[in-house]
Amino acid sequence: MPSVALPSGETVPALGQGTWNMGESKAKLRDEVAALQLGIELGMTLIDTAEMYADGMAEQVVAAAIDGRRDDVFLVSKVLPQNASRAGTIAACERSLKRLRTDRIDLYLLHWRGGVPLHDTITAFNDLRRAGKIRFWGVSNFDTSDMDELERLSNATAVATNQVLYNLSRRGIEHDLMPWCRRHNLPIMAYSPIEQGRLLKNAALKAVAARHNATAAQVALAWLLRQSGIIAIPKASRPEHVRENHAALEIRLTRQDLAELDAAFPPPSGPQPLEML
Ligand code: NAP
Repeated sequence: MPSVALPSGETVPALGQGTWNMGESKAKLRDEVAALQLGIELGMTLIDTAEMYADGMAEQVVAAAIDGRRDDVFLVSKVLPQNASRAGTIAACERSLKRLRTDRIDLYLLHWRGGVPLHDTITAFNDLRRAGKIRFWGVSNFDTSDMDELERLSNATAVATNQVLYNLSRRGIEHDLMPWCRRHNLPIMAYSPIEQGRLLKNAALKAVAARHNATAAQVALAWLLRQSGIIAIPKASRPEHVRENHAALEIRLTRQDLAELDAAFPPPSGPQPLEML
């Protein structure tokens, strides 16, 4: 499994697993747990969840999946902006820890920016780190100006990642946010890496996939994974999707593939506001 280094030097797998929409239906619980466990066995040990997903139920799915193997996984969860005051963040984290049935979250993110001053949320993150309840903290859906603001805060020296929407059809970050993160040695966690399935019908993507005897989803993931400093977190609740996504690690895109993909999904020609799902 290729890995990506966090600013601390610790490495995490470049291909992880998402959990949005898991825990929504009791009938699907067993399959979701099994899919995450299969992914862990294949080395996709970074699991991304959030207090928001299925109102906490996704964290409970994760708890079931990691039962007995907590030390094998790198757990990412998120606090909602409306909970992100100093005391609110700590309380939200405690609730997440309970649902996740663990004593620590490896990486705790602010889900997106809300009305609470950033300084207060980060003070809480630092408190949680000192208490051993989270190991690292980061942000999500932060645009370049938000990152600039973060950089100016005296208590924000330890940001570990920015999790943002990034895939072939959402390349806006390549103009300035990605260069910002590269300059600061900050890994980007690419969410919705296959655009929740919407990318898969694209003819250019399918043509490249056919040449590799692969699927469109695999090429979309391989396109992300070929770049250094990018962690992709596809969500898959079907075992065949988990296996397929893992096998994307084997694909090496050629110069011709990349040129065709650039033609179908042009990189940004100027600054674009960060998109969100
Ligand atoms: P995604 O990973 O791009 O797509 C998930 C969808 O694609 C699911 O319907 C899944 O189906 C399907 N799928 C997965 N692998 C496939 C394959 N090989 N072939 C065909 N279909 C496949 O979208 P996402 O869930 O929005 O994003 C991934 C994760 O990023 C989330 O789960 C969440 O953890 C995180 N996220 C974070 C934010 C944020 O604001 N920070 C926002 C969105 C997402 P099955 O489930 O049926 O297998």
